[in-house]
This record gives sequence, structure tokens and C-alpha cells, in this order.
Amino acid sequence: MTQAYSLYEGSFSVDASKAFVPFDPAKDDPLSRKGSIFVHVHPFVIVSENGLILCDTGLGFRNAQDELLLHQNIRKLGFEPEDVKCVLMSHLHKDHTGGMVDFKDGVARIAFPNAEYYVQRGEWEYAFSGDNPSYRTEIFDVIQRSGNLVLLEGNGEIDHQISYEVNGGHTPYHQAFHIHVGGEHYFFGGDVLPEPEEIFKNFIAKYDYDGRASRDLRKQYWEEGRDNDWTYLFYHSKSIVIGKGQKQEDGSYRMIDVSK
Ligand SMILES: [Zn+2]
Repeated sequence: MTQAYSLYEGSFSVDASKAFVPFDPAKDDPLSRKGSIFVHVHPFVIVSENGLILCDTGLGFRNAQDELLLHQNIRKLGFEPEDVKCVLMSHLHKDHTGGMVDFKDGVARIAFPNAEYYVQRGEWEYAFSGDNPSYRTEIFDVIQRSGNLVLLEGNGEIDHQISYEVNGGHTPYHQAFHIHVGGEHYFFGGDVLPEPEEIFKNFIAKYDYDGRASRDLRKQYWEEGRDNDWTYLFYHSKSIVIGKGQKQEDGSYRMIDVSK
């Protein structure tokens, strides 16, 4: 049984300005958002005996009580934000970093005070270099001062449960994580593997730093993981969010939903 849960933050339309506008598929007409792409945002939490492990942190949107949706969703699962011990960051684009910090009543606090935040050093430096609307540096200032930041270099292990590898593709120093909890092998590919559909079409994304590299990595992750019982976590999926490869009678594979 999976110990991973989506902390679904919502669906959004994004246009050339890179602003994320909430979009409700049940009420809003996609044709009214011309020139926009539609994205779904699923940060993940994995329940381990050493505390909660978070995979990316969403946009940082808040509920009517001015609480981070991320905090609300963690409480709905029966935990507290203080139970998070480990925040794994694939990269630092703003739809992944908004919930690293809790901005409330004009005060910015670290959102998970008992956690170490694991960021690849090259990504951290890239985020500060240049004026890129995909990055919100006011978040990084809070993280830098918090004392909770751990900068990773290249590939390695955080502990016996978690390993990381720089896979690039989406940003020059994007990283992926392998997380071994409860006998399961979770794979969080961040925005190199954001939704299952991209595995099955020969897709080169405009929003990638190196779209060809991402495409080739997706194929590689699928071929390796489907045979080794990986559980895939898809951050931007509109269909299967937590999935596994399953061999069919004709020898082909398909992705099955294992979120329940
Ligand atoms: Zn991104």
C-alpha cells in the first residue's frame, strides 16, 4: 500500500506573463483563457517512520482562513507541518517553491520549521542569476536566513532512504529523487516527468531548458521503473498522479493508478 499522498493545490491557467490563474474545470471555460496552457499542481507527502517527506511545495496559495493550502492538506491527512522532516526540491520554479515559506500578516516564516530543505547548489545559483519571471527570489531570501537549507552537489544520498541525481532537462541543475519507504521505491522526477502522458508521446516541451534531454530521460525512467516496481509521482498530472507500470498480456505496459 502506498504511503504517498498528493497535496493537490489546484488547477491553473498560465499565459505568457507566467502568472498562475486558478481554473476550475467544472465552472470555467478554457476558451476564455486564449493563449494559456493549463497546469495541475500536486506536491507530494510520503509518510515515513522518520517523519514526513515532502516533494516540492506548490504555488503557496492560501485558503479563506489565510492558511497555506499545503498546511491544510497535511492536516487533513492527520499530521502537522512540524511533522515534516525533509523537503526535497526538484528545482526552484515558482509553481514548486511557493509553499517553502509562509507569508502571513506581513511576516515571512519558514513553512516547515523542523525540516531540512534539500536544493541542488547549481539550481540555487541559477535561480539568483538574471531576471527570470519563473523564480521568486523573495522566497529564497527567507530560506537562506532560516538555517534549514542544505545545498546538494551532484548525485548522492541524503540517508539510507533517499538518493538524488542531477538530471537537468527542465533546468540546467534540475534533480530527481528515489525514496525508499515501507518497501516501496518512489520516484519523483519533478518537471522532467510531470505527467504520464508525456512518456507515451514523443514530446519535446518548449518550457524545458533541454527538451530533447527530458524526452530521452522520460523514456529511460519508464523502461527502468516499470520492470522494477517503481511508484511514480507525477507533479503536474491531470489523470494518474501516483502510478506504476503494469505488464499486459500482449507484453506491452501501461500505467496504472495506485493512489488508493
Ligand atoms: Zn518548472
